[in-house]
Amino acid sequence: MPIFEYLCKDCGKAFEKIVPRHDSSVDCAHCNSGNIEKQLSVFAVAGSSASAAEDFAASDGSCGRCGAAQPGSCALD
Ligand SMILES: [Zn+2]
Repeated sequence: MPIFEYLCKDCGKAFEKIVPRHDSSVDCAHCNSGNIEKQLSVFAVAGSSASAAEDFAASDGSCGRCGAAQPGSCALD
């Protein structure tokens, strides 16, 4: 299943979500707002393994790019 990165326009936080279908509704992982914007997938560029993606999906809110425990605590964010 594809993973897409989203940016919430309400709380301003980015998050990634596995989307079973392209037309699946997605809400913000932080505030549950539906006012979100889809970003380019970082996984497609980085070529991360599926297992890493699943690990990130299970860890709500943490940084999916560098493994930092808190969002915003890495240089990439
Ligand atoms: Zn939000």
